[in-house]
Amino acid sequence: MSLELPISHQDNLKCKNCNSTFNHTFIIGNLEYESNDERGMGEEIQYSFTEEVTCPSCNHKGEVIGEVWEYPVGTVNLIQLT
Ligand SMILES: [Zn+2]
Repeated sequence: MSLELPISHQDNLKCKNCNSTFNHTFIIGNLEYESNDERGMGEEIQYSFTEEVTCPSCNHKGEVIGEVWEYPVGTVNLIQLT
């Protein structure tokens, strides 16, 4: 891995408990290696992370799983929340 951690990433999340939408900043300090692929500009590496997020409206705690792609090497290509 040649990414610099932590990665900070802002996203809008929806609470499963009260349905309110809020903005959350993830500070991703720990990435789990998932897979890698050979592409035009070299290797593409996929990672995942999980974070427990607390809803600011109702204090409901939920686990969010996200995916990070490193491509080309050293660059965060996409962060997607699942
Ligand atoms: Zn809520």
